[in-house]
Amino acid sequence: YSCKGKHFPYAIYQDSLNKYSVQRLSLMSELRGALAEGQLQLFYQPKLAISERKITTVECLIRWIHPVHGFIPPDEFIPLAEQTGAIRDVTHWGLRVAFKQYKQWQELGYDIGMAVNISAIDLVDMQLPTYVAELMSEFDVDNTMLTLEVTESAVMSDPESALKALNTLRRMGITLSIDDFGTGYSSMAQLKKMPVDELKIDKAFVLDLAKSEDDKIMVRTLMSLAQNLGLKTVAEGVEDGETLKFLQEVGCTKAQGFYMSRPLPADKFNDWLKDFNADDFYLDSSK
Ligand code: C2E
Ligand code: MG
Ligand code: MG
Ligand code: MG
Repeated sequence: YSCKGKHFPYAIYQDSLNKYSVQRLSLMSELRGALAEGQLQLFYQPKLAISERKITTVECLIRWIHPVHGFIPPDEFIPLAEQTGAIRDVTHWGLRVAFKQYKQWQELGYDIGMAVNISAIDLVDMQLPTYVAELMSEFDVDNTMLTLEVTESAVMSDPESALKALNTLRRMGITLSIDDFGTGYSSMAQLKKMPVDELKIDKAFVLDLAKSEDDKIMVRTLMSLAQNLGLKTVAEGVEDGETLKFLQEVGCTKAQGFYMSRPLPADKFNDWLKDFNADDFYLDSSK
């Protein structure tokens, strides 16, 4: 970084993306404590089943509310957790919170599946399937309530190990979703072998979909790829009604994005759910 004299005291902190910055090192050491002290929270964002016009699943997105630094986004601390090995505790914690929340929504009469993100490291953690099985019996839930989202790059960085892990999880009745699809480098031959249920089209192709002909071509191509492989599709990053309409026309299974709702804490999400009326989101809903 440039080191202009008067800005120097702040330079280290501005450089927070540097792998070995002071802030990074201190965050790394704080993460386990943060977990114990309840500084981590799950936020929830709905996935709208486009043709059913129903909320069938909710994605759990982790947040760290730090007492000094405030909100730290997962893209900053999940990579740290992966480096220190704390990711396993973070994932186990997130799964437990998701199961608890699922039960609460069931008791309120909502039948909503939970989608939890797992990292490349979790995927090859032999304890993950065991832990999930324990939670399923502890909370006495139908195994189909759980979706695990794993990024395309995590799967493709070690396709052989991924295949084994995904097979184990699939046999347990868990739904498997490939996240950020289109940004990694899947070999079609590898993809075809993966026992997955759903492709999540990355928001990079969706955010400007209504305006961009290139993005429309990309999404149509990704859709037909998924359909040829017999996979369901989720588009993330849906920010307007035109985009939802396009996704409906091309046969996309689910839509997720700020247009329906931002990720919300549980109590706010409950309020959103109470007020939810699908027709508000469809441009053709005058009928
Ligand atoms: P992701 O799983 O691909 O999640 C989608 C991200 O897009 C989320 O960012 C979400 O808030 C954001 N998003 C959703 N709809 C829109 C939209 O309409 N417009 C825009 N601009 N953005 C939208 P978030 O919550 O910051 O999470 C970032 C990433 O961090 C996630 O990407 C996921 O890879 C990772 N992550 C989040 N929670 C966890 C977790 O519990 N465990 C692990 N391993 N990773 C997690
Ligand atoms: Mg995800
Ligand atoms: Mg994604
Ligand atoms: Mg992502």
